[in-house]
Amino acid sequence: MLQPDFCELLVTEVENFQGWVNETNFRIMRPNTMNRYGCVLDDFGLETMLDKLMEDFICPISKVFFPEVGGSTLDTHHGFVVEYGIDRDVELGFHVDDSEVTLNVCLGKQFSGGDLFFRGVRCDKHVNSETQSEEIFDYPHVPGHAILHRGRHRHGARATTSGRRVNLLLWCRSSVFRELKKYQKDFSNWCGECKREKKERQRQSIAATKLEILKRDGQTAS
Ligand SMILES: [Zn+2]
Repeated sequence: MLQPDFCELLVTEVENFQGWVNETNFRIMRPNTMNRYGCVLDDFGLETMLDKLMEDFICPISKVFFPEVGGSTLDTHHGFVVEYGIDRDVELGFHVDDSEVTLNVCLGKQFSGGDLFFRGVRCDKHVNSETQSEEIFDYPHVPGHAILHRGRHRHGARATTSGRRVNLLLWCRSSVFRELKKYQKDFSNWCGECKREKKERQRQSIAATKLEILKRDGQTAS
């Protein structure tokens, strides 16, 4: 998604910003509740660029692939950079993002490990339910390459075992989707567990109907 020279430019700019933060003892917001290293890009002048990135690239793709989770009505973003390595955050636990659609781009540099592991999309109620075998998906980072996924797709990052890994994250949100979600209970069009439960209810109802028919026909025959 991003050319090597742009990745380097962005990493350099983040380093400049962090250098300034350290020199001036300026207090900055960390990217989210889980990452201690990195910074919010919107805080140092990149908000407009990231808005355009969302509008021109993420929205058209999300409209096609993620319409059921608000992908066609994305309207705000939270953009940040995270750093992993032995002297940074090492790994990231299993979680869902505070986003409808997440863009995750690896900016480099040299590293090993750090694979993402995905374990199925879930609604709030089912966020801790079991993983089905077909939901297991692992993704190795390649500098410049991006992955776009639903925010509710449960995932985590394995340990970055050597070097330093820097990733750009763009959490894209839809205020329309968030408002509508308040009035819904069934998310079987995107939650793996809601879908499984719905199928199970249908299976039981079909089985009950069959039994009913068998009983009736049995009575008629006798
Ligand atoms: Zn559910």
